Amino acid sequence: MLKNKTAVVTGGTRGIGLAIVKKYLENGASVALSGSRQETVEKALEGLAQYKDRVMGIWPDLCDPEGVAAAFASVKERFGSLDILANNAGVSSRTSLYDYTLEEFSKILDINLKAVFVCSQAAARIMKEQGGGSIINTSSMVGEYGQPSGCGYPATKFAVNGLTRSLARELAKDQIRVNAVAPGVTRTDMVAALPQEMVERISAGIPLGRVGEPEDIANAFLFLASDMASYVTGLTLRVDGAAMV
Ligand code: NAD
Repeated sequence: MLKNKTAVVTGGTRGIGLAIVKKYLENGASVALSGSRQETVEKALEGLAQYKDRVMGIWPDLCDPEGVAAAFASVKERFGSLDILANNAGVSSRTSLYDYTLEEFSKILDINLKAVFVCSQAAARIMKEQGGGSIINTSSMVGEYGQPSGCGYPATKFAVNGLTRSLARELAKDQIRVNAVAPGVTRTDMVAALPQEMVERISAGIPLGRVGEPEDIANAFLFLASDMASYVTGLTLRVDGAAMV
């Protein structure tokens, strides 16, 4: 579904991001996996040795416009284009408002929102010149409902939905589609660390009866990146088993 396309996946070293990287590689794309540190990027690349001709690693500071632009230029130089950007990197927090420091609030805004802006701008500049592309952001089910603690996280996901809708409208004239995926509870390291009993309790509250797997989310990223979604832009696609928190 992605033959001859090149993708950048931020936060591609583990969890949902790594599942997106694998899904894109399986579907013929060349992929640049972006992580926060060289060591974690190289470790993730070791597990993708079978695709070594179509995968590379980058580790820019995602809030540094010049560093991101240089990293994305290196991807285009290596693979010839940049067609898909999956803005997946994110951090979560459940700190109570009474304990939330401004520093923690700024950190969550930086990676969950500012980085999405910086990466989208750098990618869109390349995509416009190429005649189009697809940007896919990562929202969350809490970007619809909020959550009862850790207000910074849902605030960033509401903002990601707004950025998605706005950029979809702004960039449509350049044939750049902008969508988001809003996962529900998904079995990444965070969920895997919970006691089985708690996972069962969470699952029981989800109409489809289970938590999501990273591959469930990666499938949505595949659809939105592909030409199958050629007339889809401005969408936040819920992939949550109809959960309502
Ligand atoms: P994870 O913690 O397993 O992975 C997060 C990724 O982001 C990692 O690769 C990490 O290196 C990267 N990252 C974090 N800080 C970074 C930084 N400063 N610079 C560069 N990269 C950084 O998390 P995950 O569960 O796979 O989450 C991926 C995305 O999905 C996030 O945006 C998250 O908000 C969203 N999400 C997850 C769930 C869930 O239940 N797991 C639910 C809804 C939304």
